[in-house]
Amino acid sequence: MRMSGIKHSPYWADQLDDPPALTARMPAKVDVLIVGSGYTGLGAAITTARGGRSTLVVEAESPGHGCSSRNGGQISTSVKPSLAKLAATFGMDKARAIRAEGRAALEWVGDFVEREGLDCDFRRVGRFHAAHTPAHYETLVRDAARMSADEGIESFAVPRAEQHKQLGTGAYFGGVVFPRHCSIHPGKFHRELLRLALDAGAQVVGHCPVTRIDRTSGGFRVDTGNGTVEARDVIVATNGYTTGLTPWLQRRVIPIGSYIIVTEPLPEEVIDRLFPGDRIASDTCKVVYYYRATPDRRRVLFGGRVSASETDPLAAASRLRRDMCRLFPELEGIALSHAWSGTVAYSFDELAHTGVHDGVHYAMGYCGSGVSMAPYLGMRAGQKVLGLAEGQTGFDGLPFPTRPLYRGKPWFLPAAVAWYRWNDQRQFRKASRMN
Ligand SMILES: Cc1cc2nc3c(=O)[nH]c(=O)nc-3n(C[C@H](O)[C@H](O)[C@H](O)COP(=O)(O)OP(=O)(O)OC[C@H]3O[C@@H](n4cnc5c(N)ncnc54)[C@H](O)[C@@H]3O)c2cc1C
Repeated sequence: MRMSGIKHSPYWADQLDDPPALTARMPAKVDVLIVGSGYTGLGAAITTARGGRSTLVVEAESPGHGCSSRNGGQISTSVKPSLAKLAATFGMDKARAIRAEGRAALEWVGDFVEREGLDCDFRRVGRFHAAHTPAHYETLVRDAARMSADEGIESFAVPRAEQHKQLGTGAYFGGVVFPRHCSIHPGKFHRELLRLALDAGAQVVGHCPVTRIDRTSGGFRVDTGNGTVEARDVIVATNGYTTGLTPWLQRRVIPIGSYIIVTEPLPEEVIDRLFPGDRIASDTCKVVYYYRATPDRRRVLFGGRVSASETDPLAAASRLRRDMCRLFPELEGIALSHAWSGTVAYSFDELAHTGVHDGVHYAMGYCGSGVSMAPYLGMRAGQKVLGLAEGQTGFDGLPFPTRPLYRGKPWFLPAAVAWYRWNDQRQFRKASRMN
C-alpha cells in the first residue's frame, strides 16, 4: 500500500479558514495570564475575560497546537475509574462527586455549543463500545447495568448478532451503546473557542513560550519569549505538553503519544455500511482503538496508540492501518490521506486534576478524554480566579499523586504498553479462534 504523499498534519486543519489576527504586542501587566491555548486555556480565558479581568493567553506554538487541534473528536463522560473503585479510595460521597463531573462536562459541552451557536459539527451520535472478547462483553454489560442503577447513565447492550447495526465489523463480540456520547469537529471547536475568547477581550499571543513564573508580593512575574508580564493570577493549561516550567506538575502527568490516520474519501455506501448510525466507536482493548466517520461521512478516522516507544506518525500509520483493516477488511487497499500524533497527559490515578499549587491555578491530566472535560475544567478554573462558588468541582482537594524518581520522563511506558498491546492481541486472536 502506498504510504507516500500522506499529510502529517491533522485532517481537521484542512477545513479551517485562516486563523484570526492575534495580539502583536505583549502587555506589561494583566489580571490573569494563562499558559497554553488549548481547550483548557481558552475555556479559562473566556470565563475570566467575560468576568471583567484583563486576560492574556500565552502559547508556545500557534494557538491550539497541542491536543486540542489533533484529537479524535469523541466526547464521553471522561471519568475512567468506576464509582466502586473511587469509593474504595475516597469514600462514596467524594466518588459520586467525581463521577458527577464527567456527566456534567458531557452535558455542559452540548449546552455550551448550542447556547453560543458554535459551528463545530457537534452531534449527539452515541458511542458503540465494543468487546474484543466474549468475557469482555459480559463485563461490559454488567458494568453498564451497574452504572445505570447507581448513576443513571443511559446505555443498552448490543449482542454480537446485532452489532452490524452499530458498526460494520464482525471482529467484536457485541458491545454497549452510550446514546449521550457525542462527536465534534475538534479543529472547528478550537477555532470557535478562540473566537469567543478574543470577542470577550482576551489577548492571545502565539509562538511565545512562557519560560519562568516567579511569585511576587502582588501576584506573579512571568517571563516569556516576548518579554516579562506581571499578572495577579496565573493558570497553567499545558496538559501533555507540560515541561520543567512547572516541575511540580511535570512530576504528576505522564505524556503519552496518541496517533490518528484518515483514509482517502470512500464511496457513500462503504461509510453507510461501516458506520450505519454515525456512532463514534471504541473498544475494550487496554491499548484502546477509537474511530469514527469524519463529519462529512466520506472518510474513516482511526486512532490508537501504536507503539511502545514514541515514533513518527508516518511510521505509526502503517501499523495503525493494519489494525484498522483487521477490523474492517474491506478497507484493505484504500489509501490514507493524513497521519498525525499528539501528546495526551495521563495521571497516576487516571483522574483529571485541578487546583492551586504555590498560588498557580492548573487543570490537566485528562487521560486522553479531554474534549469536554478540558474546556469545562478551564471554565471552572476561571471561575475560581473570579472568586465564584461555581468554580468548585468534585476534583478539588484530591491528592495529585506522583511516583518516587518520576520527573516527567515515563521510562516505564514502553514496557507497559508493549505488554498491554501483546495481551490485547493475544486475547483478540484467542477469542476469534474459539469463535
Ligand atoms: C491523537 C489524539 C486523540 C485524542 N482523541 C480524543 C477524543 O477523541 N476525545 C477526547 O475527549 N479527548 C481526546 N484527546 C485528548 C484531548 O484532545 C485533550 O485532553 C485536550 O485537548 C487537552 O486540552 P488542553 O487545552 O488541556 O491541552 P492542549 O490542547 O494539549 O494544549 C496545551 C498547550 O500548552 C502549550 N504549552 C506548553 N508549554 C507551554 C509554555 N511553556 N508556554 C506556552 N505554551 C505552552 C502547548 O504548546 C499546547 O498548545 C486526544 C488527544 C490526542 C493527542
